[in-house]
Amino acid sequence: MTREHVAVVGGGICGLAAAHRLARSGTRVTLLEGGDQLGGLGTFFPWRDRWVERFYHCVMPSDEHLLDLLGELGLRERVRWRRTRMGMVVDGRHHPFNTASDLLRFTPLRPHERVRFGAVTLLLRRLGRNRDLDATRTEDWLRGLYGDRVWELLLAPLFGAKFGARFGDVPALYLWQRLGREGAVATRGYPEGGYRAVIDALRASIEGNGGVVRLNAPVRRIGVADGVRLELPGEVLTADRAVSTLPLPQLRQLADDDLAARLPDVRLPYQGVVNALFFLRRPLSGHYWTPVVRSGTEFDGLVEMTPLAGVEPYDGMHLVYAMRYTDRDSALFAEDEAALAERWTAQLLALHPRLARADVEDVRVFRAPFVEPVPPLGYLARRPPVVVAGTPLLLATTAHVYPEVTSWNSSVGLANRVVATPVGAPRPVPG
Ligand SMILES: Cc1cc2nc3c(=O)[nH]c(=O)nc-3n(C[C@H](O)[C@H](O)[C@H](O)COP(=O)(O)OP(=O)(O)OC[C@H]3O[C@@H](n4cnc5c(N)ncnc54)[C@H](O)[C@@H]3O)c2cc1C
Repeated sequence: MTREHVAVVGGGICGLAAAHRLARSGTRVTLLEGGDQLGGLGTFFPWRDRWVERFYHCVMPSDEHLLDLLGELGLRERVRWRRTRMGMVVDGRHHPFNTASDLLRFTPLRPHERVRFGAVTLLLRRLGRNRDLDATRTEDWLRGLYGDRVWELLLAPLFGAKFGARFGDVPALYLWQRLGREGAVATRGYPEGGYRAVIDALRASIEGNGGVVRLNAPVRRIGVADGVRLELPGEVLTADRAVSTLPLPQLRQLADDDLAARLPDVRLPYQGVVNALFFLRRPLSGHYWTPVVRSGTEFDGLVEMTPLAGVEPYDGMHLVYAMRYTDRDSALFAEDEAALAERWTAQLLALHPRLARADVEDVRVFRAPFVEPVPPLGYLARRPPVVVAGTPLLLATTAHVYPEVTSWNSSVGLANRVVATPVGAPRPVPG
């Protein structure tokens, strides 16, 4: 009997986890990655003799699917856990934002607002239970709880950093889930050897179980007549079943007419990200995460890796990521890398006057067009199914993880679920 052949499209964490699971179960699997490296949004670049993540990443203790996967790969004990802290810059002033006394001294809010802020934040998870937060606008929920002024002054710019102007419309369920994953003073983990160690271990597991991993293998066209037909430059690959991990707008562009007619009609906007990495000769603030609000910067947050990963992965330097989530069609997204690096360096120096230009060893800029699908109200019922009806094509994308937060953990959980999903016999396109 010939073994079933499954193609996995995309070599980010979702595709890697799916291919790993399939190969381990004895399925013949081929992973197709369009770029020259695996890891997707968790991928890395060479810096001196090291490999550094293009985008900041950390593991949370509640990341059960990811931690189980790391266990299978023998890497769970190689996650280094640290207690990390949060800062906040508002109107150019720096504030620690971790404890009750930090909050009581948090001058952007009036004294009675600080007390209300603390009480509501403590109760927020509980206040959200038994409410239909999927059908509640974040703005409506938070304005009601925190008050108009706190929403406008702090919460809208703070949380809006991820979704831009659309944040108020996003279901409050997203925020509620996120609060369950992250807190201000949080224990965070970072894998020894960086995310590259995890990616390499997944590749070794897939290949060790007889799977094939192909780089520089961009899928240009997908059809679903008689199995799955994948067109690559100069060749056609067929499979009995396929798992696509590509963002839905990208998949739509690759689908032939028959598949396009069968794809779910869910058209979400996606936020992209522009991200600058500063290699500094001295530490910045000691806070892992610092939102930056109304402070004359184009970036709206900083992540300092030193408190989490130390300086060893960065050849003794202190690595700081500055990020701005933005639309892939924005002028910022298209901007020249050198100009952006120069301007953001000046903004970082203005924000941290004790930092001198000579402290900035190097700056790199990376961007990604499809990072966060922006869910509409009532998305729980409108999420696309993981099987494209009547075809052997499965979808495992960041648009499928809601209400979970997009993360390596939710992608691994999704991959586990999708590879275990049966696909029915092919059916004609619905009328
Ligand atoms: C700035 C930033 C910070 C983040 N921080 C964290 C964090 O701290 N912790 C955490 O867990 N998560 C974090 N994430 C989220 C996490 O990186 C993503 O949720 C996750 O990587 C998504 O994985 P994926 O495999 O679904 O998609 P992707 O990583 O996007 O992978 C898709 C893959 O498909 C490939 N591809 C595209 N087109 C084709 C084609 N035609 N043919 C073949 N291959 C193709 C791409 O090259 C890519 O490798 C962060 C993301 C960003 C951007």
